[in-house]
Amino acid sequence: MRLLGRVEEATDHSCGPESVVAQVVRMMRASLDVAGLVPGRVQRLAVASPGPLDVRSGVVDTPPNMPGWGVVPLQRLLEESLGIRTRIANDATAAALGEFRFGSGRGTRNLVYLTISTGIGGGVVVDGRLLEGTSGAGGEIGHMTIDRHGPPCKCGSVGCLEALASGTNIALRFQRALERGGASCLAPTGDGAPPTARDIALAARHGDALALAVFRDAAEAIGTGVVNCIHIFNPEVVAIGGGVSNAGPLLFDTVREVVDRYALPMPRAVVRVVRTELGEEVGLMGAAAVAADDRQPATL
Ligand SMILES: [Zn+2]
Repeated sequence: MRLLGRVEEATDHSCGPESVVAQVVRMMRASLDVAGLVPGRVQRLAVASPGPLDVRSGVVDTPPNMPGWGVVPLQRLLEESLGIRTRIANDATAAALGEFRFGSGRGTRNLVYLTISTGIGGGVVVDGRLLEGTSGAGGEIGHMTIDRHGPPCKCGSVGCLEALASGTNIALRFQRALERGGASCLAPTGDGAPPTARDIALAARHGDALALAVFRDAAEAIGTGVVNCIHIFNPEVVAIGGGVSNAGPLLFDTVREVVDRYALPMPRAVVRVVRTELGEEVGLMGAAAVAADDRQPATL
């Protein structure tokens, strides 16, 4: 699999789904230009979209990270605009398939993928097949409960992995620690923006005790989530991507410590916990893997 062209823009939320669909159509044509291809040569379009969504009907259902979106038949809208067979997939699930086919999962049969950024998403490959579940909602790793006495999650539950360890929540928990009187080199000095998870990871690496404590607690929660996945799926690889994975050893050393301490010996002996090999391309390669797996006829 080879990437021939890439075009990147911030999502245009100005008119809800209409502006985003128009933007996708325009960007797809621009990426074909970059690759030196014409639309007539394209057999399939695969879209890795924020969920929740139904992969069978191609409908996205009120995604919390897409302002103004209700129930949107994204697959049909794109097929009507482009005349190209389209498949949509949950972005984190598609990334799991990309990592399995083209990244750290090459040559394996079982992989768990976690993406840790604004939220926490994931996907699971079991015996070489992507786990979809009964209604296509399988693999919601971010909403596994880590602490049933923990903070509320936007999904309505409490103590979810996402509520404890997403980039947004690492920043929020650090802010709360400052408000309780914690001392840090990142303490606000005026009207500057509050520190992000990236700032906190950087300060932790430079020895800031409060930043280290908050980041380590989040990394331990991720380690606990990984142990749960190891116990349930017995994977060969647990791959972690997303912005928070850029913290490198600060994250991975703690996650591996938790795995070494708490995972059962038999599944622990066969698992590797790694950073995604595909880096920023994991979502694109995931969409390519979804298109390659599509058994529908190419013509509409
Ligand atoms: Zn949740």
